[in-house]
Parts: sequence; structure tokens; C-alpha cells
Amino acid sequence: MRTIGRSGRQLGILLALLALIGSAGCGPPPPPNILLVTIDTLRADAVGAYGGPVATPTLDRLAREGTLFEQAIAPASQTTPSHATLFTGQEVLHHGALRNGIPLANTAETLAEVFQRNGYATAAFASSFVLDPRFGWNQGFDHYDAEFPRSGETLRSRGGQWRKYEFDGFDRRAAATNSRALPWLESVDEPFFLFVHYFDPHAPYAALPAGAARLPSGFARAAASERIEALRKTLPGLTLEALVLALRNYQAEVLAVDAALGRLLAGLESRGLGNRTLVVVTADHGEGLGQHGTLDHAPNIYEEQLRVPLLIRWPKHVPAGRRIAEPVGLIDLAPTIAAAASLAFDGRPDGRSLLAALESGSVAEPRPIFGRRRNYPRPYQGHRGTLFFVRDGYWKLIRATENEDELYDLAADPSERSNLFTTQPNVSERLAALLDEALARHPDRTLEVAPSTEVRRGLEALGYVE
Ligand SMILES: [Zn+2]
Repeated sequence: MRTIGRSGRQLGILLALLALIGSAGCGPPPPPNILLVTIDTLRADAVGAYGGPVATPTLDRLAREGTLFEQAIAPASQTTPSHATLFTGQEVLHHGALRNGIPLANTAETLAEVFQRNGYATAAFASSFVLDPRFGWNQGFDHYDAEFPRSGETLRSRGGQWRKYEFDGFDRRAAATNSRALPWLESVDEPFFLFVHYFDPHAPYAALPAGAARLPSGFARAAASERIEALRKTLPGLTLEALVLALRNYQAEVLAVDAALGRLLAGLESRGLGNRTLVVVTADHGEGLGQHGTLDHAPNIYEEQLRVPLLIRWPKHVPAGRRIAEPVGLIDLAPTIAAAASLAFDGRPDGRSLLAALESGSVAEPRPIFGRRRNYPRPYQGHRGTLFFVRDGYWKLIRATENEDELYDLAADPSERSNLFTTQPNVSERLAALLDEALARHPDRTLEVAPSTEVRRGLEALGYVE
């Protein structure tokens, strides 16, 4: 029996031999199938198992049957940079897909390429134009499905960065994505690597009677009452009732996608593949929902935008019902998934495998987590320009090109209300040094980097700052 946390090939061979001896020729265990699901724009705290306002039956079941990471941190509050990190295990400045519309370069091996190179059948089913194969996402996939008929789209997005592209619809609902993924799942040979991306919780939040019927409204009213005042600075005409409705509909979208994920898992299990498949479910980023004066995931990188669910189920290999408390980055997912199948990247990702943490229940040597977001010049309240964060344990530093630096103690202040940057100078300095080190690793992207105040002033004097 293969056990996690011991991915060395020699040990694998030894265990396979022992299994052979013990079971009189049954052979080594087959390599696991992989099902990787990202749910776009899903905040961790919208999930029942993370203390959400209502139960999310499928995700909660995965938490019971697998291991839950309580503090999983996305590297950006935007789809492209976050998915690029998730696929390559590289820091955002390393892979260079810095914002939506920038293609994923083919310089780094992707997770799908690792599995394809090792004989897996690979397929992806995406639900938003941001993950269209023209942006390089199909690397390593035998089959990449990203058809978005105009009739099925929920978000019309023809402006700004997308204007130069010709496309049909912008997105599709999870049920439509399932209608393509399930037939593939029914007929594919093992082993396979399947990536499914759902988009439903992304704005606009549609009113969904089926989901909303199960929703109490008290949670939405309480949150809306607390957030409406700050939000009105950005959206002056916003009424309390409109915000209550938005929060309720967001949660209804979460329930809808939870149900769709349930149907996908049922498809897996109806073929008897549940026990042979490593299931990983996460999100690319969260959503503001009125906190820090913003409804969506732009323009900030607070916890509501960065903290995402991360659930890993692999019966007999990953402990069931366990919760891992230490912060981990999505950057670690690709190396973890590859290592679970005893495979390795060609080249070295920046992230590292979490298999030992899954085995022991804690992260033995936590590392700092880095991330970045570049904002477009829009009339937003909040952050502008380029911003970076570094997370070290429960300390988090945010550095922005056009705002004051911020430091938060997330253990005492999980909502990031009290900026300790000047009152905790030693911590600020330590985290700033960590961030400088990370930025120095990619000097070729300097113009996309938040420079020091001194350099910034110089650039401003020369007119080089957007
Ligand atoms: Zn996204």
C-alpha cells in the first residue's frame, strides 16, 4: 500500500514489492487518478465547513472525507495569475502571467504536462473566457473544452482588456460545464488527470430560486448592515436591501456550484473511481462582498479576496476529517498533486509538496507566502496601482505603489481593521525584507514590481508611474 509523505521512487518500489509478496501477485497499487476543481471567486468562509452561513453539502462532505486546510492563500485576487501559479507551482512574478489576458508562457512545465508526459489521459473543462486556450492554458491537455455559447453567458464582458479579442459568450454555468465533463469522465481510461473550473459565484450573482429557497436571510442582513456604510463611499446609490440581496444571491450561487460539484463527484463514484482518485477542490480567489469598501475581488488583497477553501480527499491515503491550521499557499498545490502520483516536475517549482503535512496534520516548516495584484486605472475606492503581500505565519504585510504600506496581525485581527505598520516597526521591517528578497528573485519584471519609496519617487519624477 502506498502511503503519502514518502514519494521517493525507491521506497515506492519497495512498498510495491511488499504488496506483491503480501497479496500473492496482485501487483502494485495503480497510480491515482486526479480530479482538480477550482471554483472561481469562492471565499473560504462561504463554505459550511469553514464556518459559512449555511451548509454546503458537497464541500462539507469532502471536508469530512478528506483533509481541510484552514488557511489556504491564493497568490493574487485575479483569475489568471492565480491559476498560473496553481498550474506551475511558480510565484506570480516567476511565471509572468501577471493579470487577466496575459498568456501563460510555455517556459515552465505545467501540472497537466507532468501527467501527460507520464501517460495520463488529460482533460480540462473551463467556465470562463479568461481560461480560454488562446491564453496558453491548454498546455498538457489532450482535450480542452472552453466553449461558451452566447446564450449561456451570465457576464457580458466586451470592454477594457477583452475588447481586442473575438469571442462568443464569456462564461457558462456549472451545469453546462458538467454536461461536457461528465461524458468524458464516463468513458476515459485510467489513469487520468481532469481539471474542472466552475465560474458561478463570480459576479453577477443571479437570483437562483432553487438555491435561494434554502437560504435564511438573517446572515446577509447582519453582514450588509455592518458593511453598507463603508461601501457607500464607493457606491453612493447602494441601498441596504440591494446589498442584502447581493450577499444572498452570492451564497445562492455557491449552493448551486456545490450541487454541481456533487453531480460531478457522483459521476466519478458511479464508475467506482472514488477510492482511486485524488480529489482537490479550491478557488482562485475570494470576493469582497462589501468588506473594505468593495463588492468584488478588485482592487484589494485582503483576506476576503485571498483566503480560499482547500479540500483534499484521497481515501486510505489522506486522513479523513482532519483540519490543518498553518497557512499554505496555492503555490504548493501543483508539487503536492504531482508528488501524490510519485511524479516530479521537469525543473523545480517555487512551491513544495504538502504530502508530509497531509500525513502528519501540520506544516512542519511554514514558509512565507507571497502574492501580487496589479490594478487597472479605475475609479475605485481602495488600492490602486500594483500591490504585493507577504504572509509569514499570522503576520501580513501589504505594499502598494500608490497607497500606504499596511501590516496586520491576522491572529488578533482577522478582518484587517487595524494597520500596525508604524506601531510594529520590527515586524514591518522583517516582512519588508522577505518581500524585497522575493522581488529581487525576478529583477526582469522590475517595472511590474512595487519599488522602494525612493525608487518610486525617482520614477514618478521621470513620469514612469502609471
Ligand atoms: Zn477568478
